[in-house]
Amino acid sequence: MHETDTHLHEAALVPFFEDGAESRGSTMVDGVHYEVVEHGRRQGEDRLRASAEIVGWLLRCHCDRWNSSDGSTWTDPFPWTRVPSASLEDLARHRVFAPDTDVHADERPEVEEAARAVWRREHIDPIDVDDELRAAVTARRHADAQLDAAVAKARRLGRSWADIGAATGMTRQSANERWKDRT
Ligand SMILES: [Zn+2]
Repeated sequence: MHETDTHLHEAALVPFFEDGAESRGSTMVDGVHYEVVEHGRRQGEDRLRASAEIVGWLLRCHCDRWNSSDGSTWTDPFPWTRVPSASLEDLARHRVFAPDTDVHADERPEVEEAARAVWRREHIDPIDVDDELRAAVTARRHADAQLDAAVAKARRLGRSWADIGAATGMTRQSANERWKDRT
């Protein structure tokens, strides 16, 4: 989960099947794991498929706006593939081993950790850097306005351009060129 000024991001690995159907949650019936692939209108109408048939996971983020019901989703284009043996597992290549008896490999800490790293790198960092750029531009604008006001005050108090240049780390001429029309 990641919070910004405008959004709340919540990521999950979503199991999917060979035909592309996605799980909306899992349930257990008589000791067997099933995925809910379609919500029925009434309770008990949900369409279930054996969890053992999961072929992989999609890394997806629900990006909800604060104080608003509209949100969007982000899905990593590189799915996580279920492989049939532990020796084939390679988390760096999104290959995850999950035996039929313990198919919810997305809940394993090392899988979660690997997925979280991808989510952060591919989805969160690019959003954060845009926020950082915008915040930096706003901060610079405020700082410029503050400096202009201070220079104007210095001029009203009779300071020379040489004084102002010395105080602001500029030459007399540069200070004069920058502020002569604004003060
Ligand atoms: Zn998001």
